[in-house]
Amino acid sequence: MANATPAEPFLPYGRQTIDEADIAAVVEVLRSDWLTTGPMVGKFEQALAQYMEVAQAVVVSNGTAALHAAMHALDVGPGDEVIVPAITFAATANAVLYQGGTPIFADIDPDTLLIDPAAAAALVTPRTKAIVAVDYGGQPADYPALRQVTDRHGLALVADACHALGGSLHGMKVGALADLSTFSFHPVKPITTGEGGAITTPQPDLAAKMRTFRNHGITSDHRQREKAGSYFYEQVVLGFNFRLTDFQCALGLSQLRRLDEMTQRRQGIAAQYDAAFADHPLVTPLRKRNGVNHAYHLYVIQLRLDQLGVNRQEVFQALRQAGLGVNVHYIPVHWHPFYREKLGTQPGQCPRAEAAYERILSLPIFPRMTDADVARVIGTVDRCVRGFAR
Ligand SMILES: *Cc1c(COP(=O)(O)O)cnc(C)c1O
Repeated sequence: MANATPAEPFLPYGRQTIDEADIAAVVEVLRSDWLTTGPMVGKFEQALAQYMEVAQAVVVSNGTAALHAAMHALDVGPGDEVIVPAITFAATANAVLYQGGTPIFADIDPDTLLIDPAAAAALVTPRTKAIVAVDYGGQPADYPALRQVTDRHGLALVADACHALGGSLHGMKVGALADLSTFSFHPVKPITTGEGGAITTPQPDLAAKMRTFRNHGITSDHRQREKAGSYFYEQVVLGFNFRLTDFQCALGLSQLRRLDEMTQRRQGIAAQYDAAFADHPLVTPLRKRNGVNHAYHLYVIQLRLDQLGVNRQEVFQALRQAGLGVNVHYIPVHWHPFYREKLGTQPGQCPRAEAAYERILSLPIFPRMTDADVARVIGTVDRCVRGFAR
């Protein structure tokens, strides 16, 4: 085919960064005595707590288990309501239901897609137990404003910080901004252990509760019993097996050493996108709030649909055809058939979230992207939307 140009490689929206030190760290554990519930678990927890300048970190098998453990730690149960943003991964709301509670969907700030503290405040009832903020895309939510709401009503403040490890707000690290903060170590997230998660908290009692919860509700683990020369254990609550293995903890520990470097690369890519799109007539990047050190798990643009002759789907298709792994984060949770059937939610109840959903696109961003990759994304997006201009 004389006129065929070699297809450019597909550029995913996110991707892990694994180096030889990571591989060596995992292999070392595989050759050791403890594959799970061994010494790496405490080491990784300590390193996470130290990095985030918070008293306690508890590692679990994934970010969803982290949210579930957080809801358990707060004693969320039947009759309790927990306020969550309408734009998030479904797991944020699902975790409330795992505990028998009811997620209540709050609308978002249309410029940042972060939970709107005023909208959350308006949803508080005598049954409300907690507010969960999501650090959408890696940008910390407005914790000072949310804290005012939770303090006024005696509620817990939870951060779903699965996007935001490595970020900070007014000099305070993500992980230290709420009563409980949850993290995911899925490969697209800031650091990875394959699957994995963690919860941080300044409160040792909550941490102890979650350590029991991740181990079937049993109060001492296998290694402690071996050390004490005892078979004895007690199950005190109904827990789960949400443990993270030692080789995963070794990988996480090795990754954490490079977190700042990887965050800086994400920020460098975001700066190039900002320069290209800040004054663009057809797309608008999300707004970065004052005092934010942004972790840039996602780089999200909003299409100026009033200036385009097509909808988001057509722009999405065109960019996918050009090999860009653009994505949409997220479908409003209350739109899902499960939630409509289970809780009677319906379109129209969070209008700003729903309008934002129609125009958002996540562009590729991950530490190993080259400047040529970034230039390719910028050029392709620019050409594509200009081609669709009214
Ligand atoms: C990734 C993610 C989760 C779930 O984490 P898993 O490790 O995939 O279970 C929860 N909330 C948000 C906002 C996420 O991005």
